[in-house]
Amino acid sequence: MSKAAHRGPYDLSREDLAGLLPDEPRYRVDQVWQALYGQSRRLEEMTGLPKELRARLADELSPSLTMLAESRSTDGRTTKWLWSGSGRSAVETVLMLYPDRATVCVSSQAGCAMGCSFCATGQAGFVRHLTTGEILEQVAAARRAGGSRRLTNVVFMGMGEPLANYDSVWGAVTRIHADMGISARHITVSTVGVLPGIRRLAREDLPVNLAVSLHAANDRLRNTLVPLNKRYPLGPLTEACRQYLTAKGRRLSFEWALISGVNDRPSDADELAGLARPLSAHVNLIPLNPTPGYQVRGTDPAGVRRFRDDLRARGVNTTVRRNRGTDIDAACGQLAARAARLPLEPVPH
Ligand code: SAH
Ligand code: SF4
Repeated sequence: MSKAAHRGPYDLSREDLAGLLPDEPRYRVDQVWQALYGQSRRLEEMTGLPKELRARLADELSPSLTMLAESRSTDGRTTKWLWSGSGRSAVETVLMLYPDRATVCVSSQAGCAMGCSFCATGQAGFVRHLTTGEILEQVAAARRAGGSRRLTNVVFMGMGEPLANYDSVWGAVTRIHADMGISARHITVSTVGVLPGIRRLAREDLPVNLAVSLHAANDRLRNTLVPLNKRYPLGPLTEACRQYLTAKGRRLSFEWALISGVNDRPSDADELAGLARPLSAHVNLIPLNPTPGYQVRGTDPAGVRRFRDDLRARGVNTTVRRNRGTDIDAACGQLAARAARLPLEPVPH
């Protein structure tokens, strides 16, 4: 099979799978599908299948992502994977275990074309879109690693801009919902503000949560942090958010990386409150993680508290996400930079 034609196990539809099993009893398709999606088994581990069939399937449908490294935080609650895909692309995934939930943060692209100045993925540039199968492989790996802990949440907050790779992302969302049994309200798509994507999302049947990475609440500042703002400025963006809320009734959240002296002033809190309150948006604050290409500091803890209190005083629901290895869901988009700072240890295989 040529490289371009490579299909991983999760790139197949049920019909495709049936096409690979023409001489097998009909129940085999269900059996393999259930093992892939119900139990997230690897093909070679499907011991309920005849040995030869298992070997043939494993051979024809080798995974698209190869694990380069797996690391785990010292407290065991965070696991991070680095994968290589075709064309030497690197992709990262993080599993976070909390007392009440287990969340996987998946990548939707290798690199990102959006060029946000403060983001390590953006600084690296765009490599390629991931396929639906590659996104699902990340979820399956997290489900296996969680062991007895059921994976409850999927967030598209890893590398890449999910709404710039809409079809693959939505293909994965529908499978995660329908075949892996994770409901839409436990799936979050994070976007920097790709308007056509938000509008399309509003027309879908499944009401996923929408997170918008805002970082600035006036166009002048946002243009400098998020180049896409020049194309889709705040007015149309917040209007699309409102339409999404009306259509789906899901909670909207704004992500805000606090950058010292840039977007952490009282006037910034005031402007942000002005956008968040009418939309009842929940604001997630995270101090900026320094990246090689953007040598500005994150806001210090006292400044973070002050900004949070300013927002709360203005009636905005606000959560602070800390830069702990176990609490990285708000900013796993810059995993590469953060990985160096996490107390992660390689997991022997
Ligand atoms: N491209 C999408 C999905 C990635 S989510 C998006 O931008 O929303 C990754 C999250 O981490 C985004 O909210 C992003 O703005 C944030 N982020 C990126 N670089 C960061 C940094 N250096 N420090 C803190 N947060 C960062
Ligand atoms: Fe891309 Fe999101 Fe990073 Fe911006 S913040 S460069 S959209 S991954």
